[in-house]
Amino acid sequence: MADTEKTDIILIEDTDPGFCDEVASLPGGENIRKCFACGTCAAGCPVTNIDEEYNSRTLIRKIILGLREEVLKSPVIWFCVMCYRCYARCPQEVNFTDIMRVLRHLAIRNNYAPADMLASSDDVDRCAQLLRRDMIKERIEGRKQIIEEIKAKISGMHG
Ligand code: SF4
Ligand code: SF4
Repeated sequence: MADTEKTDIILIEDTDPGFCDEVASLPGGENIRKCFACGTCAAGCPVTNIDEEYNSRTLIRKIILGLREEVLKSPVIWFCVMCYRCYARCPQEVNFTDIMRVLRHLAIRNNYAPADMLASSDDVDRCAQLLRRDMIKERIEGRKQIIEEIKAKISGMHG
């Protein structure tokens, strides 16, 4: 198979014209063709922020072009931390986080997923969720404290 990452040349024999339909037929992949490549998802992605090799917009283009093997074999599909930022910001409701789940599902089903990647991906997902929970909790606690301070000031004014 030609290395399209390095040469940017796509050979027709390396493509699977049914790949996009396959992704779109699975739960979560339905909206893939709504993507108009604006790049909003990639601009807000914490993973792209630290590693430009990971890019949701590029992945979607590759799926649409039918680069099935290249996408499903790529280690980058295990980089996503499922934070749903792209999901919330996409103007087209493409729901990229769900597309990522579809890609992982297909990679596992077709034996493209390295076993060690599966284990570490689970660990990363768990850590990301815990971090997210703690950050939200901290913000809620912070807000509660501000409300208590305001209440105390108001009752001080009336007392
Ligand atoms: S934000 Fe949505 S429409 Fe824009 S590139 Fe990402 S998936 Fe496509
Ligand atoms: S869900 Fe994945 S692709 Fe989307 S912003 Fe988070 S890390 Fe990036």
